[in-house]
Amino acid sequence: MNKSISEMKNQICWASKEIYQRGLVNVGEGNISLRVKNQDEMVITPSGNNYLNPLPENMVHITFEGKVITEGKKPSTEYYLHRIFYEQRPRVNCVIHTHSTYASILAVQRKALPMIFEEMGVFLGGGVPCSEYARTGTEQLGKNALKAMGKQNAVILANHGLVIVGRSVKHCVFGAQLVEKMAKIYVTSISMGKVYEIPEEILSNLSDRFQVEFSTI
Ligand SMILES: [Zn+2]
Repeated sequence: MNKSISEMKNQICWASKEIYQRGLVNVGEGNISLRVKNQDEMVITPSGNNYLNPLPENMVHITFEGKVITEGKKPSTEYYLHRIFYEQRPRVNCVIHTHSTYASILAVQRKALPMIFEEMGVFLGGGVPCSEYARTGTEQLGKNALKAMGKQNAVILANHGLVIVGRSVKHCVFGAQLVEKMAKIYVTSISMGKVYEIPEEILSNLSDRFQVEFSTI
């Protein structure tokens, strides 16, 4: 096996453990992928990923059309949700999709997460928009997600969960945790009364670092 594919499978195992241990996914839900450089290919978690014991040999190397290159594994049925970001955003090298609880609370409300901490501007490019609803596993789900994401690195999927894109797997893991923490703060504090957002003009001050280090546009 190509050494870089092998290394990518190890990275996906690491990310699987990270997001599972942090409570961002339950066994069998969500998925993680990495782009294969200079190819229309990705490595993705298998359908029903075992986060308790993720093994490199269970990760699946597929083409953007979903054709399996690694024999014997069934890729996640949500691969189109990943593919559209690799095709439309050349700087995206990793996509993580979770059903984390507080982001999913906003998802069923079909509400965006406003920018309530400055770090959202630095790492995510601002608040997290919410897409229009589409069924799981459809091409429309990916199209709606891409359209709603705008220039940011994260989008809430209506009645479904969250997608984070990034230049690296580490940034995506960090982003998935950050969105969930921010969503928890937002959902909890809105029950206490008005929630104040970071003023829009502050975002332009934060966007320099975002553009240089984290933007995927
Ligand atoms: Zn899902």
